[in-house]
Amino acid sequence: MTKNIYKVLVIVIAVGSVLSGCVEQKKDSVNYFGGTGDIQYCERVNGRNVLYDDENIYITFKHEALLRLDKNNELNVNCMIATCLHDTQECKAAVNAGEYFIFNNKLYRFYNESSISQSSIIYSGFIKDCQNNDIVFDNPVPEEMDEGKKIDDSTEIYYVRVINEDYLKVEGHRHAYILDKNFEVICMYDDVGKFPWGTLYEDKYYYINDLYQLVNVNIKTGESEVIELENNCFLGGAYKDYIFYSDEFEDLYRYSLKDKEKCKISEKVAFFSIYDGYIYAEGGQNKNKRIMDINGNLIKDYTEYTNMVCSDSFIKIRDMIYCTYENGIAMMKEDGSDYKEIVWEQGGV
Ligand SMILES: [Zn+2]
Repeated sequence: MTKNIYKVLVIVIAVGSVLSGCVEQKKDSVNYFGGTGDIQYCERVNGRNVLYDDENIYITFKHEALLRLDKNNELNVNCMIATCLHDTQECKAAVNAGEYFIFNNKLYRFYNESSISQSSIIYSGFIKDCQNNDIVFDNPVPEEMDEGKKIDDSTEIYYVRVINEDYLKVEGHRHAYILDKNFEVICMYDDVGKFPWGTLYEDKYYYINDLYQLVNVNIKTGESEVIELENNCFLGGAYKDYIFYSDEFEDLYRYSLKDKEKCKISEKVAFFSIYDGYIYAEGGQNKNKRIMDINGNLIKDYTEYTNMVCSDSFIKIRDMIYCTYENGIAMMKEDGSDYKEIVWEQGGV
């Protein structure tokens, strides 16, 4: 009996200290970038991933430095050291330090190191755990790739895309790997296309290959399959059981992964992004920009938002859509209301 009470007491004390530890940690926690709250991230079909926390968005354009857009819509370089040139690995605003991403609540970054071999520059890619600086992956050229492709390949990393909490994709020039949560290779493919978009659906990872075909690789068996669509796929996007793609005539199609059927839902769409059932599209001779639902019905024409550009590179954070343009950041609510521009006045950081 005494033993049991003792046990209960130990558990109460243990649970109590875990709880208070958590509260304490939350209250005092300063994240990797000096902001507040947990760092989260949004990935784009094109362009660099964007990180954010409770109060700030960490974003770059012109690839010059990592900027911080705070809750008052003020834009500053994410570095507190006045004399810093933001070009060292230690600087939290350095862009050449690589691109960050979050995988299973942990912050990682990938980067490429250059070296000279036989008078040409070679880039080697790495993924680092930001907490302990361990290199967790070095993107080797796949042994099973045929020799012709191998010669043209490298270990350089172009994109990392977090698929879900179990898998991520690492993409380079010629090959792409699907990795598990321990950064072990699950499968690879070597017909990498122009854009890094892809989506996992029932063990099959779908992407657009170098021949503009919609294909999938089964991550359990490694087998590939081409989806017969009768048109070339240019850019892709996914929402629920659907894949959306624009073709060479700027027609926008919706392909059902369940029924294996496609239907054309819109025209004059060259570039687009899909977030939460909203399609942001632009195309046609006048580069008309509009928001549509997943059936292609018009919700809003936003052509007048001059600097809301490159709809394939939109960023969705909470209920806002952001994009970077020549001189700053443009933003609107997901339904196209509340348009704003934040000009980056300091320029040339
Ligand atoms: Zn700096």
